[in-house]
Amino acid sequence: MKLYNTLSRKIEKIESLHPPQVGLYTCGPTVYDYTHIGHVRKYLMDDVLVRTLKQAGFQVRHVMNITDVGHLTSDSDTGEDKLEKGAVKYGETVWQIAEKFTKLFFESMDLIGNLRSDVVAKVTDHIPEQIELVKRLEAKGLTYVIAGDGVYFDTAKFPTYGQLAKLDVAGMEEGARIGKVEGKRNPTDFALWKLERAGEKRQMVWLSPWGDRGFPGWHLECSALCLKYIGDQVDIHTGGVDHIAVHHQNEIAQSETATGKQPFVKYWVHHNMVQVDGQKMSKSLENFVTLPEVVEKGFQPMALRLLFLSGHYRSQMNFTWDNLSGADKSFAKLVREVAGWQTQSKAGVGELSAPAQKLKDEFWQFMYDDLKTPEAVAVLWQVVKSNLPVAEKLKLVLDFDQVLGLGLKQAPQLVGKANQLSQVGEDQLTDKIKSLLEERQQARTNRDWPEADRLRAEIETLGYSVMDQAGQQKVSKK
Ligand SMILES: [Zn+2]
Repeated sequence: MKLYNTLSRKIEKIESLHPPQVGLYTCGPTVYDYTHIGHVRKYLMDDVLVRTLKQAGFQVRHVMNITDVGHLTSDSDTGEDKLEKGAVKYGETVWQIAEKFTKLFFESMDLIGNLRSDVVAKVTDHIPEQIELVKRLEAKGLTYVIAGDGVYFDTAKFPTYGQLAKLDVAGMEEGARIGKVEGKRNPTDFALWKLERAGEKRQMVWLSPWGDRGFPGWHLECSALCLKYIGDQVDIHTGGVDHIAVHHQNEIAQSETATGKQPFVKYWVHHNMVQVDGQKMSKSLENFVTLPEVVEKGFQPMALRLLFLSGHYRSQMNFTWDNLSGADKSFAKLVREVAGWQTQSKAGVGELSAPAQKLKDEFWQFMYDDLKTPEAVAVLWQVVKSNLPVAEKLKLVLDFDQVLGLGLKQAPQLVGKANQLSQVGEDQLTDKIKSLLEERQQARTNRDWPEADRLRAEIETLGYSVMDQAGQQKVSKK
């Protein structure tokens, strides 16, 4: 099995440190707000990676953290703690915010069919381990204290700093890459342990050798958790491409200097981002899409899974409601086909025929070659459209689904759902659609046809079509 390694910028064969085991670490969510579909895609592709490694014969130990403290709003060790900020925004305590969004995160993971990782580690449950790691780095003379601010890692003492992102560390000026922190020795230095600022009243603070009221730096947790749950060295580490330049560089610096072992991570795997309608997802643009919203609009969560599988994890994906609508139709067709085969095919299959074996080989070649899911999904459709006996089709599709994770074994139950969802009931519509429909009804009463047409077009961009029947508006999913 091969994967693209960010460290070498090459596709490499996976040879684990202790075969057949693979220690795999995933940077988990920061639980201060709703999980959007960009996060969903990232963890979905991790899930596909884990499933594929297992199929390739590896014994995978998958560890993921839950960042429930210490992630500041900027990468520069300045700004507010995202959790404390979330607490103010939602008028709850930091602990309540963390619990609420962790629960919602896992609800989304379950809906999309992701398997739980072997270890889910909350950062606040591992404060002693993190303090211990800072002490280790301090004992090696790699840290310094900025009074009233915290303990910093001196990156000048780690000569290979910047290798992963191929950073030009020498040419870097403080503030160009990261906001300025008074007292930092080098632009790339970062906080290991932060102290509550004068006048600040944080909800989450801990005692440490550096002060009574402090909290861990964001990068520290991943090094400490890898050490505890995987070891000094990790086979595969995953995360978003936005983590390469700072967060993952810092993890490498902390871990390699603490243990004296290189490399900290053998294969770095990075997922690309999701855009919505060609734009970066953001609250201010109101294009922040969540999985519950997808479901609320009447789409099956697995339609989103199929849509994401049709793109490669290293490519940016552009989400549109039209794309999802297309994937929803494809998914409904797929489950109807598979359910049909399940009723027709009572006998098992022995040896696969030569054409079936060829399709099977093609599928697995694509999956083992840097998770080429778009090509693998295309093979799945070839099977569906082929003239192979249904028993063979069924065997192949269920084999593929071990890594695709579309839940096709339960196809008969899913068919019922697909039929039910094609009729959009009042209770399945979002407030936005409902208010647009009301506006349109009003426009029709006023005989303002251009306005009624404009509103119809707006509703259509959200994935629904409107028909006027006997003076009533009938809505269906496109
Ligand atoms: Zn991390």
